[in-house]
Amino acid sequence: MLTQNLGYPRIGSHRELKKICENYWADKTGYKNVLQVGKNIRHENWLMQKEAGIDVIPSNDFSFYDHVLDHSLTFGAIPKRYNEVILKKGNSELDLYFAMARGYQKEGLDVVAMEMTKWFDTNYHYIVPEFYKDQPFKLFSTKIVDEFYEAKQLGIITKPVLIGPVSYLLLGKEKETGFDKIDLIKNLLPVYLDILSRLDALDVEYVQFDEPFLTLDLDEKAKKAYEFVYKEIRKAFPRLKIVLATYFEGLGNNLALATSLPINVLHIDLVRSETQLNDVLSALNEKTTLSLGLVDGRNIWKNDFEKSLSIIDQAVEKLGSDRVWIAPSCSLIHSPVDLTNETNEQDLSSEIKQWLAFAKQKVAETVILKKLATKESPASTLQKLEENKIAIGNRKSSDLIHNQQVKQRVLALKDEDAERLSSFASRKIKQQSLNLPAYATTTIGSFPQTAEVRSWRAKFKNGTYTLDEYNTLIAEETAKAVKWQEEIDLDVLVHGEFERNDMVEYFGELLNGFAFSKNGWVQSYGSRCVKPPITFGDVSRPEAMTVKWTAYAQSLTSKYIKGMLTGPVTILQWSFVRNDQPRSVTCTQIALAIRDEVCDLENAGIKIIQIDEPAIREGLPLRKADWQNYLNWAVKAFKISASGIQDETQIHTHMCYSEFNDIIQNIADMDADVITIETSRSQMELLDAFADFKYPNEIGPGVYDIHSPRVPKREEMVHLLKKAKAVIPSEQLWVNPDCGLKTRGWDETKKALIEMVEAAKEMRKSEAVLTAEQEIN
Ligand code: GLN
Ligand code: ZN
Repeated sequence: MLTQNLGYPRIGSHRELKKICENYWADKTGYKNVLQVGKNIRHENWLMQKEAGIDVIPSNDFSFYDHVLDHSLTFGAIPKRYNEVILKKGNSELDLYFAMARGYQKEGLDVVAMEMTKWFDTNYHYIVPEFYKDQPFKLFSTKIVDEFYEAKQLGIITKPVLIGPVSYLLLGKEKETGFDKIDLIKNLLPVYLDILSRLDALDVEYVQFDEPFLTLDLDEKAKKAYEFVYKEIRKAFPRLKIVLATYFEGLGNNLALATSLPINVLHIDLVRSETQLNDVLSALNEKTTLSLGLVDGRNIWKNDFEKSLSIIDQAVEKLGSDRVWIAPSCSLIHSPVDLTNETNEQDLSSEIKQWLAFAKQKVAETVILKKLATKESPASTLQKLEENKIAIGNRKSSDLIHNQQVKQRVLALKDEDAERLSSFASRKIKQQSLNLPAYATTTIGSFPQTAEVRSWRAKFKNGTYTLDEYNTLIAEETAKAVKWQEEIDLDVLVHGEFERNDMVEYFGELLNGFAFSKNGWVQSYGSRCVKPPITFGDVSRPEAMTVKWTAYAQSLTSKYIKGMLTGPVTILQWSFVRNDQPRSVTCTQIALAIRDEVCDLENAGIKIIQIDEPAIREGLPLRKADWQNYLNWAVKAFKISASGIQDETQIHTHMCYSEFNDIIQNIADMDADVITIETSRSQMELLDAFADFKYPNEIGPGVYDIHSPRVPKREEMVHLLKKAKAVIPSEQLWVNPDCGLKTRGWDETKKALIEMVEAAKEMRKSEAVLTAEQEIN
């Protein structure tokens, strides 16, 4: 029995990678220093895993930005627009690489970055490979081989990790028509063979191919590609030990395919799909070893050793202990690095800490599981098992976690609690008392979070400002924002969210059942890391969270202030979620807390309340067959949060993406009175989905893109609104930007919103002329 790791966090235990890269991009440090920091991180990771006792240690899991981009560079899949970057004197391979990741605007060149998108259903983003017709591939970077050699010099024979050829192609995007990316497999295979022969020359033993697409719905062509490519690799390297890694879901109907491939070790994710074990055990052929992904690579909970041991026993009974490996469920890049960095009792109490394991602790767990399973356990390991039992038992009964009142409230929920009092049609009539014009203008919530605003928060946290001083500053900023919105004549105002650090963290900090680490950073993309809250216990709301600031803003104006909340699905989706109850239950608990907040806002005289749900779509399960179940509870949670109020109170929701086609029915089921969405980048194309569906409620299609500092012209927005009006009746339309303005500066924000308000007025005017003409006729 061996242990393996599939990948270790590369950001460094104190985000060293972020710091050095950002300094390099700002021209504050040199190329050699960047390489050195990368090397230090790799060495530290390898040596740590070796010391911990991992048998098969990964290499090429390090990356300066993104591992998918590493592969594109390695395979020479470099879009032509970067040629000039390559040719520019003094530019290194790293400069080209960063140019592909981030774009290149220097010395007269202006080359855009490659596209970025989410890595399966995680919060990690990868750089999407670009494929062109007859896309050539050739070995461009020898990173994979170099890093194997680097570890070898340290005395560690690593297992290079490559994205498998089929998954690599499926991750990419065809940038021209007239071909199917999967057909590129024949061009791509020789580069894999080239890399493997170089590794072979250095006496590589294991190579890991990540093929996460084997857990998704596959078409026949992709299945054929799998058969073809692994047969060819096997033919060329009969003795190479191939580890095929699958994760994020069960193999499902791809099980026969996966077990038919000529590989040596099949890795499966038993955290995401515990039930697949029996099927895999029966389907596995006698030549293949099974790697059990038992330690959760995507969450922060301690492994339940007793439970894992019983799974290992099952596998050993069937396969014998030689054909069983122990591993984390997937790469540990989705876990924070090291729990021992959490030293502040106030942030994370020791009671909560005893339930947690970050990447370094997960490596240790993997090794302990093997020792316990093979009964080669010294007393100290047996002691660990006892400690583990105590921690797991304590979590089951801790008062910190379990709140009977909350559990009762969830159980007592009735269907009608998820429904508004009346249908949208009747609500719309009652909401006419709001007296809003056609093409009512509003924003999505946040105004610029300037360096100054952030510095107030930092100064309050480090004790430079008292709470009163901090509150005064926030109040002044809020008052300024309200006044300015009145001046430019927006119809529905917001308070600006100046008091919020982040749309999930802000609420998590005010709710019971959430904890925060100091150092629990996880890579989101490139140098950007996030620190998701930890939902560890039943969620309740000790007191109102937003009423003070919203009511304050409302007291300053006779126009409506729109209350601003983050929805239950988004709070769930962007947190580490507890694994001792279904996600749907945790989500419902959060929904009840938000519902209470909505009611409190209504009681405080707030007539319009927005519940943001930007994460509802990304929560979709990987397999289509699981979608409906998720959508049922997610939509219901939103509705629970939005339904405790009178018909006259108007509920808005906001989502910032543009693929609605496949879930439009569910969006309609959410029954928000108004939805604001992203549409400007697609030139309102997305509205067709709403029009075809005959979406009944009101819509605010974003009329300009807030992701760019460019100030949109009035005519552009009028043009977009006319397009919108062509498919959606004007009494259903709102006018707003695509998303919140927190990342923008005030200057461009002011200019853009002034134009936006004028564009709406122009629309109203032309509409008035039209109606007048109709009346005359
Ligand atoms: N209300 C939030 C804001 O304006 C919404 C952010 C989001 O959609 N991600 O910032
Ligand atoms: Zn948004």
